[in-house]
Amino acid sequence: MLLENNSGNGFSAETFFENRGGLTYSDFILLPGHIDFGADEVDLETRLTRNIKLKRPIVSSPMDTVTESKMAIYMALCGGIGIIHYNNTIEEQVKHVRLAKRFENGFITAPVVLGPDNTIADIDKIKKTYGFSGIPITEDGRTGSKLIGIVTHRDICFETNRQRKLKEVMTRELVTAQVGMTLQDGNRILKECKKGKLPIVDKEGRLVSLMSRTDLLKNEDFPNASKNATKQLLVGAALSTKEEDRERLEELAKAGVDVVVIDASQGDSVFQIDMIKYIKKKYPQVEVIGGNVVTARQCKSLIDAGADALRIGMGSGSICITQETLAVGRAQGSAVYHCAKFARGYGNVPVMADGGVSNLGHVAKALSLGASAVMLGALLAGTTEAPGEYFYEGGVRLKRYRGMASLEAMKEGGAKRYFSEEDKIKVAQGVSGAVVDRGSVVDLMEYFMQSLKHALQDLGCRTISDLHEALYNGTLRFETRSPSAQAEGGVHGLHSYKEPHLGFFKSVMTPREG
Ligand code: GDP
Ligand code: GDP
Ligand code: 5GP
Repeated sequence: MLLENNSGNGFSAETFFENRGGLTYSDFILLPGHIDFGADEVDLETRLTRNIKLKRPIVSSPMDTVTESKMAIYMALCGGIGIIHYNNTIEEQVKHVRLAKRFENGFITAPVVLGPDNTIADIDKIKKTYGFSGIPITEDGRTGSKLIGIVTHRDICFETNRQRKLKEVMTRELVTAQVGMTLQDGNRILKECKKGKLPIVDKEGRLVSLMSRTDLLKNEDFPNASKNATKQLLVGAALSTKEEDRERLEELAKAGVDVVVIDASQGDSVFQIDMIKYIKKKYPQVEVIGGNVVTARQCKSLIDAGADALRIGMGSGSICITQETLAVGRAQGSAVYHCAKFARGYGNVPVMADGGVSNLGHVAKALSLGASAVMLGALLAGTTEAPGEYFYEGGVRLKRYRGMASLEAMKEGGAKRYFSEEDKIKVAQGVSGAVVDRGSVVDLMEYFMQSLKHALQDLGCRTISDLHEALYNGTLRFETRSPSAQAEGGVHGLHSYKEPHLGFFKSVMTPREG
């Protein structure tokens, strides 16, 4: 049989990974499959959790130098999802979630509304908090009361007296639509009437909801966006296992968070099990990603508790020193393979590979080992959408990137993840550094996804689910990569070079793989 385990065709994952020591992404290579389709036919749709699907398998890490609302919004627009970090107050984290949830809509069912006696200054405040200024005016300033006008940016932008009442500046002749029509009809009316906003009213003229023209444009610009049934962007938020984070959870749930990630470096604890059970009982609509875990035994604990997905990785992150400091963890390739295999057989729970992705090939490798999604820190931290300002060092444009268990981040609250919040002496499990400018995450994601489509094409798989099928039926073939094979597989023998799209990547970061 052609695919028996002989070196002519490499090895099945089972033969390759069972009874081997810990393997990293760099330790193996995937052998090519048979191509009978174009790269553009590859579909990257995947499962983030039991109940959330994404068009692109990429998640931005809940780190304070990676994901706040801007990153979360653009990750979701590009088809992935962002997880808002929790190294902040409850109010700050909730604000980021709300900004993402409010960014795009079908029907805006709870629009911000004012009354005729409110002032332009009130709209200025709304603009500052939420980013929009198209406000329907109703008799008593609430949804459900009679619509009497609308104020938009054009009505107020040149007005110097911000104390003027809205009844003096609002437009009273309105194009409205009747409640009950479909989103498609609403979009058609918006296109035809050429207005920016379409208030939806009932028979008595009371405001029910609102539609915005910008959402039509956003929908055209970002056809892969991750959205819920009401067309709001999907967003996640991180949470610790601590009792007091139940209050944080309550506020996040009220803000409409779709998924929470329980952020713990060693996930198999009674604290996490209790937290998962609590969330699944009290907020069944919120999906829970448990973690971090690296063994089948840990996976079992969290799946039994009710986790909707698992986050895999311990000590493999680029800023992480856990393995060297605490001697605990696992090489990421083996961790992903073993956990994904277990979770598939134990409730078909999807897993997300987290950390240690330092080049695009690693994303394809993580998925090939059974992960359904890949979480990125370092690769996204240099984009415009990541928090923080750019600075120059040695002529190179950089952004700060730090581990959540670096001493700097722990000072601001990151220690919750590492059970060391009350410790008098803080043990750092991460470092603080810098990454190069990568431009906008929108361009970067396009580039990543195109390269991933080519990777799947080379493997002969049209979808991520086909890839997993091939992994478990043995048609996906693996081979060891010796240190010299790694050197051969990287650029070599040149005086200098620049890596495409990733700019000065190699010259600034220590290469992890040749
Ligand atoms: P599909 O586009 O037919 O696959 O189905 P969707 O449910 O995604 O979209 C149905 C209708 O809603 C289409 O007219 C879309 O253009 C429109 N649509 C999709 N997303 C949005 C959105 O975020 N806002 C608005 N206003 N319309 C949307
Ligand atoms: P505006 O003209 O200043 O209101 O802003 P845009 O029309 O450019 O953008 C409004 C965006 O905010 C759209 O994507 C809306 O879906 C979104 N949004 C979310 N909630 C609300 C709301 O309560 N009112 C308004 N006007 N927009 C909202
Ligand atoms: P990267 O993509 O940069 O290789 O890894 C990002 C991941 O590293 C994060 O998603 C998180 O799981 C992990 N991480 C973040 N901060 C720290 C830290 O300070 N210490 C450790 N051990 N891991 C961290």
